Amino acid sequence: MAKRSTHSSEPAGLPVARKRPAKAIANMAAAKAAAKRRKRDGLTPAEIQAIFFRFHAIDPEPKGELESVNAYTLLVAVALSAQATDVGVNKATRALFQIADTPAKMVALGEEKLISHIKTIGLYRNKAKNVIALSEKLIAEHGGEVPADRDALETLPGVGRKTANVVLNMAFGIPTIAVDTHLFRVANRTGLAPGKTPLAVELGLEKVVPDAYRLHAHHWLILHGRYICKAAKPLCPKCVIKDICRFEQKTA
Ligand code: SF4
Repeated sequence: MAKRSTHSSEPAGLPVARKRPAKAIANMAAAKAAAKRRKRDGLTPAEIQAIFFRFHAIDPEPKGELESVNAYTLLVAVALSAQATDVGVNKATRALFQIADTPAKMVALGEEKLISHIKTIGLYRNKAKNVIALSEKLIAEHGGEVPADRDALETLPGVGRKTANVVLNMAFGIPTIAVDTHLFRVANRTGLAPGKTPLAVELGLEKVVPDAYRLHAHHWLILHGRYICKAAKPLCPKCVIKDICRFEQKTA
């Protein structure tokens, strides 16, 4: 019979830790391996379909939150919204768009008066300069109309890929995907379209979002990021795609 060690550091009387049964250890290892595989392999087409099916069921016609009255004012509102909130932009543009809802009226208003309307918005001086310059360019090169063309839009002062995508989608019904900070976060956390840059995420989403959901995809994802999948503390318990999402630090 084996002798008990007399050099045990275990104080007498304390319970000895129980060994996990081998089967439980094997199950845990299998679950871990499956989770790793799920993360590595990304979302399946059926899971992606399920995400958008659920978003559609909750909100069939999602809308952007920036206010506008036509394609031109939408373009201006989006250009003004860089590093500003939609609520802040709407407050400033409500009165502005009543008097300047076309490029010609904006140019007639002039930079100084435009500044007086938008000075509550960050970077307002630079934005005012761009709005006047883009309005002049629309008049000179596009007959005062907003072109439904990405390349043409991106040549306008202060207009980048994201702004062009929003305008193409909302004003012209082209199923583009505008990647803002909220959408970028959601696409990466969920595993829907992981990418290091907004362009990588946009191109990734274009590959995986089912055609039927493409037009509204960016609104669903932006709103989901803004109100549920928040940057600091996502509201995972309230999330309708929690069972599909691959984010490892889900909140309880
Ligand atoms: S489960 Fe959490 S992390 Fe994943 S999408 Fe929902 S809110 Fe975001």
